[in-house]
Amino acid sequence: MTRRYAMAVDTLRCVGCNACVISCKTENDLPSGGFRDWIVQEVHGQFPSLTLQIRSERCNHCAETPCVAACPTGASHVAAGGTVLVNRRKCTGCKACMVACPYGARWVHPDGYVDKCTFCLHRVERAQQPACVETCPTRSLTFGDLADPASPVARLVAHRPHLVLQPEAGTRPQVFFLT
Ligand code: SF4
Ligand code: SF4
Ligand code: SF4
Repeated sequence: MTRRYAMAVDTLRCVGCNACVISCKTENDLPSGGFRDWIVQEVHGQFPSLTLQIRSERCNHCAETPCVAACPTGASHVAAGGTVLVNRRKCTGCKACMVACPYGARWVHPDGYVDKCTFCLHRVERAQQPACVETCPTRSLTFGDLADPASPVARLVAHRPHLVLQPEAGTRPQVFFLT
C-alpha cells in the first residue's frame, strides 16, 4: 500500500508552549527568524461564551500542491509518503512557490533557498518521530501513515471531529486539527 504521511494536531490538548517550535529550530538548525512551525491562537464564540483554539501549524503536505506546480525549476517536489520537499540545490529563491501556497508555510533561508517543514523525513526514515512530535509535552501531535487504518493518526482522523485549514483552497491538506 502507498504510504500517506499525515499529522493530527489536537487543539484540545495543545497549551501553546512553543516546545514544538523550539525543537524544530534545534533539530533542523534553522537560522534566527526562520520557522518551520508556529502557534496560532484564535478566540471563538461571543462573550461570555468564549473558547480559545490553539493550533501548532506547519506545511500541510497537501495532496494537491500548488507550490509544486508553481516551481519553475523542479526544486519543489513530492517525496516519500506524499511529503512535500524543496531541493535546495535546485531552488533559485524565486518565491513562486511562496506566492502559490495559501498557508504562508514557506520562507526564504538566508542562504537563498526556500525552506519549509519536511515532516522531519530524515528522522522518519530512521524510524524516529518528527522532532516536534517527540518533544510535545502534552502529546498533542500525532504523525504517521494515514493509509494504514490501524495507525494512530488514521484512527484519530477517523474517530475525532477535525478540520483542515482553508479547505476551499482545494489543496487537500494532510495536517488535521482535532477539535
Ligand atoms: Fe502545543 Fe505541543 Fe507545540 Fe506545546 S509543543 S505548543 S503543546 S503542540
Ligand atoms: Fe505546498 Fe503550502 Fe500545501 Fe505546504 S501547505 S504543500 S507549501 S501549498
Ligand atoms: Fe519542524 Fe519536523 Fe515538525 Fe516539520 S515535522 S514542524 S520540520 S519538527
